[in-house]
Amino acid sequence: MRLKQLPSEFQKALPVLEKIKSAGYEAYFVGGSVRDVLLGRSIHDVDIATSSYPEETKSIFHRTVDIGIEHGTVLVLENQSEYEVTTFRTEDVYVDFRRPSSVNFVRSLEEDLKRRDFTVNAFALDETGQIIDLFNGLEDLENRVLRAVGKAEERFGEDALRIMRGLRFAATLDFSIDKTTFDAMTQQAPLLEKISVERSFVELDKLLRASYWRKGVEALIASKAYHYLPDLAKQDVALSEMLKSLASDFLFTSSEQAWAALLIYCHHANPKLFLKKWKTSNDFQKNVISILEIYQKRLNQAVDKATLYRYGKDLVFLAEKLREGAGLSVDFRIIEELDKELAIHDKHEIVVNGASLMRDFGLKPGPELGKILKSIEMAIVDGHLCNTKEAIDAFVREELSFG
Ligand code: ATP
Ligand code: MG
Repeated sequence: MRLKQLPSEFQKALPVLEKIKSAGYEAYFVGGSVRDVLLGRSIHDVDIATSSYPEETKSIFHRTVDIGIEHGTVLVLENQSEYEVTTFRTEDVYVDFRRPSSVNFVRSLEEDLKRRDFTVNAFALDETGQIIDLFNGLEDLENRVLRAVGKAEERFGEDALRIMRGLRFAATLDFSIDKTTFDAMTQQAPLLEKISVERSFVELDKLLRASYWRKGVEALIASKAYHYLPDLAKQDVALSEMLKSLASDFLFTSSEQAWAALLIYCHHANPKLFLKKWKTSNDFQKNVISILEIYQKRLNQAVDKATLYRYGKDLVFLAEKLREGAGLSVDFRIIEELDKELAIHDKHEIVVNGASLMRDFGLKPGPELGKILKSIEMAIVDGHLCNTKEAIDAFVREELSFG
């Protein structure tokens, strides 16, 4: 099959291919971008595979960066863009199921395509628009089927991350998974325990953020892969509950929201520990737990100004959207109005501070000062106190006389 016209992203990258070719090597576009063009999806990064070895690639271009030379990848800066140019290589030999123990560079495109995970990820595209399809990927693409390249069981045995990638592609591409491939995923799922948590996180996160996340979660449950992921063992009922509870057209709008939903339905006793086991950043943990707290608070009460002030409108909206997805009552307009009514959104907007109170009222640093500052802050947030010096001074005098 030949593309009638190379999409602009590839056109722009053509000089890279041409330079490698005129140096006497082969070069092709490969990977997700070729698949996405054939599916009419938007392309992100254009990857190039070549028969030139990394040092040879580097000598062809003026500007390159060594970004993964041990895997054969050189970043080429050309035409105001960056392209990952990777030497053809054979299947990596994995000793610990995590990192390849060695990489073998080869001169054969076929060898390189053989090591790729799924048939629809194993196309090569040449400069004329010709698609090289050694594994019937075009037919699978037509039928929207995800099929492992080669013997599925072996391929997942070599690298169990491919199981997570498969579930993720089902969710992003809206593909079904070929039966033999799916059976092999199920069979090899226990190997997921050996995969680095960070890599599994990336895949599960992409799965949840995908347009067809329900398909991904269904496959995650059916393959029992969840069982071998951090703190998700035995959570099939919870995952099914999540599918049942959230409306069929519900989509997660942020990763934090998606992971908060996981925690809501899994009823985890210690959400922080769960997120730590997934090796997420402190910021991520904080936001997920905030969404969770807002959601839980909202089960018993309406959104109030104190909640909005504490967590900020964005996180409150994310929690509220989860409520909406679960068919619970929501009122985004009220949240907007309350947010507009908030006299302050940050304590630094208060016209007094610790230093000024110490000066004006002879207070000393310590818990009493902290308590007064907090009461001022909350009284302003609730709307009982004006954020003016006179009003606050009167408020402090009263606090001190009662205190
Ligand atoms: P995305 O749209 O998410 O970028 P992608 O298919 O481009 O999807 P990448 O992770 O960017 O995925 O990898 C580029 C290509 O490298 C894949 O299309 C596939 O051919 C190959 N590949 C990546 N990871 C693996 C793996 N674990 N095993 C085998 N092949 C892989
Ligand atoms: Mg990619």
